This record gives sequence, C-alpha cells and structure tokens, in this order.
Amino acid sequence: MSLTGKVALVTGASRGIGRAIALELGKMGATVAGTSTSEDGAKAITDFFAKSAIKGSGFCLDVGSTEAVDSVLARIEQEFGAAPLILVNNAGITRDNLLMRMKADEWESVMNTNLTSLYRICRSSVKIMTKARWGRIINISSVVASSGNPGQTNYAASKAAVEGFSRSLAREIGSRGITVNAIAPGFIDTDMTRTLTEKQVEAMLLQIPLARFGKPEEIGAVAGFLASDAGAYITGETIHVNGGMYMA
Ligand code: NAP
Repeated sequence: MSLTGKVALVTGASRGIGRAIALELGKMGATVAGTSTSEDGAKAITDFFAKSAIKGSGFCLDVGSTEAVDSVLARIEQEFGAAPLILVNNAGITRDNLLMRMKADEWESVMNTNLTSLYRICRSSVKIMTKARWGRIINISSVVASSGNPGQTNYAASKAAVEGFSRSLAREIGSRGITVNAIAPGFIDTDMTRTLTEKQVEAMLLQIPLARFGKPEEIGAVAGFLASDAGAYITGETIHVNGGMYMA
C-alpha cells in the first residue's frame, strides 16, 4: 500500500475530511500538497504535516479560480520536483436553502466550488497523468447525491454531477492507467455537520444503522485504498461510506 515517490494534491486539507485524507496519503509515503483558502490555513497545514512526520506542505488555493489552480499546480511541481499524480478533489461547501428561497448566489457558489472546480483541476492534471501513464483521481461526493435532502437542491445536484463526471472521465482515460472514482460520505463529524441542531442530529442518527456519525479518518482510509495498488482495478465507481444510512 506504499505511495512513496508519488505527489498527491488534496484540496481543502485544512480541516475535516480533507485533512484526514492528506494525513492518510502522507502516512502511506506520498508527498502531499494540501490546500486552504487562506495563507494562514496553508501555513497551518505545513505545520500539521511537519508535526505528523509526513512530507509535503500547504498551499493557498481558491478552487473557484482557474488562474489560481494553474498557478498552484506549477508551484507544486517546482517545490516537489514532480507533478501530482494523485488528485483528491475534496474542497466543498454548502449553502442550504429551500429552492423557493434559494438565491442565485447560493446556487452558483455551490456549483462553482463543488463541481466546476473539477473541470478546472482535472483538465490540467489529466495531461500530466496521461504522460506518466499513471494517475488516481478521487472526487468527494456525498450520500445526498443519491438520497436527496430537503434544503440542498444545489448541493445534491453538484454532488450527483460529480459522480457523473467521474464515470465519464473514467471511461475517457482508463486506457492511460488512470482511475477516477468518487467517495460518497454519509454524515461525518466535521465543521460542516457541526452546524446541525441537536434535534437534526437526533433525527439523522435514527436513520443510520451504525447509530453514529462517521469519523474523517474513515473517509481517509478509503481514499488511501483507492490511491494504492490495491485499488488499481476500480474505476468509475462511487464508494458509499455512510454507516448504512443509504444502501445503494
Ligand atoms: P469542512 O470541514 O467544511 O472543510 C471544507 C474544506 O474545503 C476546508 O479545507 C476549506 O478550506 C475548503 N474549501 C472551501 N471552499 C473552498 C474553495 N473555494 N477553494 C478551496 N478550498 C475550499 O468540510 P468537510 O466536512 O471536511 O467536507 C469535505 C468534503 O466532503 C466536501 O466536498 C463535502 O461536500 C464532502 N462531504 C462532507 C460530509 C460531512 O458530513 N462532513 C458528507 C458528505 C460529503 P478553508 O479551511 O481554507 O476554508
């Protein structure tokens, strides 16, 4: 399961699921570029990697900007001497509202951050992976892409599109030794779910056979598996990690 010698890019690695994925890939030997939307966040990532004894550093990136994406990819190659052949598109946001009240900005910001970012980052990264004839793309979706969730038409649509995107890209580049998969987490204990009220959490727990929220490390472990040789024959797949709340 070694990733020694590989460079991995994990977007949104300052906290939550992205941080756990970065840590897992780093422990497996990869040199990790983890991103945050702020310079302070990027520095905190660098410090966290050093403290955790993994190779790599933090970079400031807004996945909503094509120029920023291209510049970060160039900087990673410059700093680490190799481009990322493992790409984890994890950065994501929610802007929940009932559709009747949803503002255009709430719709557009979710689509731009959660979906259009994949177009930007994958388009540039795939060229490099194609040359190397090896690559792993892991896109973070959500259980609500399959189950739906009131108040999340924007978010659920963006994540369902991430899964369709992954299947199509998997078909385009499989012959080049590049796999493209999605992970669909259920409710995971991160800042994103800490905004739920006690009542909402109680209602959620009733729907989860394992009767608890997931831990970020439980998503990190699946990302590590998909990035490793053990996951080499899996592509175009969405792996559900949700404690049984949705059984595909
Ligand atoms: P989180 O704790 O809210 O962290 C979000 C991360 O995304 C942060 O590192 C943040 O960076 C980064 N980010 C936000 N906007 C960005 C932008 N425009 N450009 C670049 N980075 C940006 O979220 P999480 O719960 O770990 O979720 C991670 C992923 O899993 C998301 O795609 C989310 O949709 C998905 N997911 C989460 C759950 C859950 O229950 N938590 C369930 C299903 C799917 P800064 O810290 O620098 O702002």
